[in-house]
Amino acid sequence: MSWTDALGRLARRRRRNGAPAATEGGELVCEELVELVTGYLEDALSRGDRRRFEAHLRGCEGCSAYLEQMRGTILAVGGAAAPDLDPVIRERLMVAFRDWRSSRDV
Ligand SMILES: [Zn+2]
Repeated sequence: MSWTDALGRLARRRRRNGAPAATEGGELVCEELVELVTGYLEDALSRGDRRRFEAHLRGCEGCSAYLEQMRGTILAVGGAAAPDLDPVIRERLMVAFRDWRSSRDV
């Protein structure tokens, strides 16, 4: 299992904690963007998902920052397939993102 798979799994697990689902075919919510970010960076999204992803980015500075963070992390570890990204770093990214969300949403 690659670390990107692990990250996606982590995001999906978080989503069950009552995150609002996006309307069908509508705009992404931040939780969905988190799920899609590795696919986006690997250029693995469908055209529709990619468009929704980019539309969300334009309106959400938190997710833009998150994407840049993820991109930097992937570059730092030498590619998305790098097997040994420190799980602590991975967890920290997720926590940082969640904290940003909750501080904004109150
Ligand atoms: Zn967002």
